[in-house]
Amino acid sequence: MSNHRPNNPTSISHFGCRTFNLETMRAKLPREVYKAIEQTILAGAKLPPVHADSVAHAMKEWALEHGATHYCHWFQPLTGATAEKHDAFLSIERDGAPIARFSGSQLIQSEPDASSFPSGGMRATFEARGYTAWDPSSPAFIMTGPKSATLCIPSAFISYHGQALDEKTPLLRSCAALSRAATGLLGLLGHTDVDRVVPLLGVEQEYFLVDRDLYERRADLVMAHRTLLGALPPKAQQLEDHYFGSIPDRVLDFMEEVERELHELGVPVKTRHNEVAPRQYELAPIYEGVNIAADHNLLTMEILRRVAKRQGLALLLHEKPFAEVNGSGKHNNWSIADSHGRNLLDPGSTPESNLVFLVFLVCTLKAVHKRATMMRASIASAGNDHRLGANEAPPAIMSVFLGEELNAILNAIEQDEVNVTEDRQSISLGLSQMPPVARDNTDRNRTSPFAFTGNKFEFRAVPSAMPVAMPNAVLNTAMAEAIDDFAAKLSARQETGEALEAAVWAVLRAEVIATKAIRFEGDGYSQEWLEEAERRGLKNARTTPEALEAWREETNRQLFTRYGVLSEGELEARYRVRLEEYVNKIEIEAKTLLRMARTEILPACLRYQGELARSFESLRRVSEELRVGPDITSAQGGLLEALASDNSALVRRIAELDAAVGGLRSAGTTAEEARYCVDALIPATNGVREICDRLELRVDRQQWPIPTYMDLLFHG
Ligand code: ADP
Ligand code: MG
Repeated sequence: MSNHRPNNPTSISHFGCRTFNLETMRAKLPREVYKAIEQTILAGAKLPPVHADSVAHAMKEWALEHGATHYCHWFQPLTGATAEKHDAFLSIERDGAPIARFSGSQLIQSEPDASSFPSGGMRATFEARGYTAWDPSSPAFIMTGPKSATLCIPSAFISYHGQALDEKTPLLRSCAALSRAATGLLGLLGHTDVDRVVPLLGVEQEYFLVDRDLYERRADLVMAHRTLLGALPPKAQQLEDHYFGSIPDRVLDFMEEVERELHELGVPVKTRHNEVAPRQYELAPIYEGVNIAADHNLLTMEILRRVAKRQGLALLLHEKPFAEVNGSGKHNNWSIADSHGRNLLDPGSTPESNLVFLVFLVCTLKAVHKRATMMRASIASAGNDHRLGANEAPPAIMSVFLGEELNAILNAIEQDEVNVTEDRQSISLGLSQMPPVARDNTDRNRTSPFAFTGNKFEFRAVPSAMPVAMPNAVLNTAMAEAIDDFAAKLSARQETGEALEAAVWAVLRAEVIATKAIRFEGDGYSQEWLEEAERRGLKNARTTPEALEAWREETNRQLFTRYGVLSEGELEARYRVRLEEYVNKIEIEAKTLLRMARTEILPACLRYQGELARSFESLRRVSEELRVGPDITSAQGGLLEALASDNSALVRRIAELDAAVGGLRSAGTTAEEARYCVDALIPATNGVREICDRLELRVDRQQWPIPTYMDLLFHG
């Protein structure tokens, strides 16, 4: 294949070659059109519609040069994946001659039938129309298949009435809200030269890779993307010999192909390494603006999947593909920068920048403290329930880890040990100067769901398979609110005649005290933390249905409507879609396991039981002649008995699961179905699994009908 260059040693020279980026646009567009689109991309200005045809024409010419035959609006419906509908660059002239055409209006808007995408009730079926609208801030790119190439145009997806049917739209709105709030606060702090603030994001993506043949022989992996049964091998990750270990050649080949493709698509992938579990890996790009980073994470997941398939591997993005083996997440590294590129969460080295830093740091604490339940809801999924709160990093309780130095500083502020001296050079915390906060905070707390790591916050509870738009939209919106609140308190003090700096310290102090409950430096896994968190009034939503209730709380709804990020209807829709998705996933898992247990595991176990019975029978027949004593026959009889007993237990558990599956759809509303999943269906599924896993260790390995954990995690 020409577009995959296995022997190309570097992909840097190809970086972005499959994107319609600024450089390409500068070369292809008339000057004034280029200037306009540059403004759109760099400063968020609206592209004057008169230029759309010109951009579309250049984009089409460029795409044709790259072998594209079709174009599509590439968008993110609420399914958690991306969607695309391809149209050929084809028009028929009046004389019947075909011509490659792509107009400005086709670029700007398209009208896929929205009725097959979940809308959570926002769109009545008689009104199936939905529109995709070009997002010029995210570069169009060429996606290649084995024999085809398609121009993909990143787009938002909205209903006929302008409601957001996608993940991107609320993210863009939240960025605007955050920018407005942060610019305002910076203005109050004297930084009037800032005209916008942007969230930055770097997403570390964890994943598993398994052999594709083995994968295809397991219905659970194919249907549910995780193993629904499987006995633990004697060694899983106890030896901790996989993390950062040398990467096997086969995986290295995979990673190189992924990187090459992603670099061509302008995704700045930088880091790759083994993760904790066998067959688990991680990849991380250089951070970018949050909207682009979110698109790029979706592209990354897509390319990982495609390349894996091409190389005879299967990608598992699920949060918990293997029980009792480390699961996968996404570390959502988030910071905010002003229009001069200054990171507001960078402690810097001067007291002055320290002050801005402290203000935004404390605003982040306020945001997480006040909207912890929304943040938890934003990352809730059936898969993530296996990580959060299930004895794995991080727990389901939202808290913030700051590290020793920052904690000391906040404690000093709380104790009012801060003296602001006249010359501003020594904002002292009982010290002559604020200590520079070490960038490389080595004492990282891996158990924290939201940790400060030098100049950014790392939201670690984000699930590996989920798009990152929603968690970031929630984070940005919560942050906008916290910043506005901080600014209002600051203004109120200034109005009473208080000097700016004194007012800032006073508000800082009040907020440090008010948000103290959200700070936690200890072990997030421990039982003590569960109890301590409860005393502090921090919520611990262990399951998705519980967590999602936050979408319905009045105060949360008010926040999102007030900031224009999600309307009541849009919020309700997301709640419903997520809840339905949860129920569907649990149902698929239950049905898949039921089928596997009945049609694969039980038959194999019964066959083996037959063999044992025959062998036992013949042993008994010859026992007298051979003088085989009763202890021998009874030992072997015991073997048969244990197997028969487990088989019978399996038959009963299968019947229980069958009944539980049967009861789901008559449980009532979706919320009741979800509760039913938690209370009845999941326990019944676990019940079957328990016996299957026991049987796996009793039955002839040759006869076990599906690849085992040993095969999947240690084979090849
Ligand atoms: P770590 O190992 O500390 O988690 P890395 O430096 O490897 O951190 O970065 C992890 C991710 O965080 C990368 O995607 C990186 O680009 C991103 N990142 C680094 N600095 C920032 C920042 N200021 N804002 C957002 N993301 C950042
Ligand atoms: Mg990290």
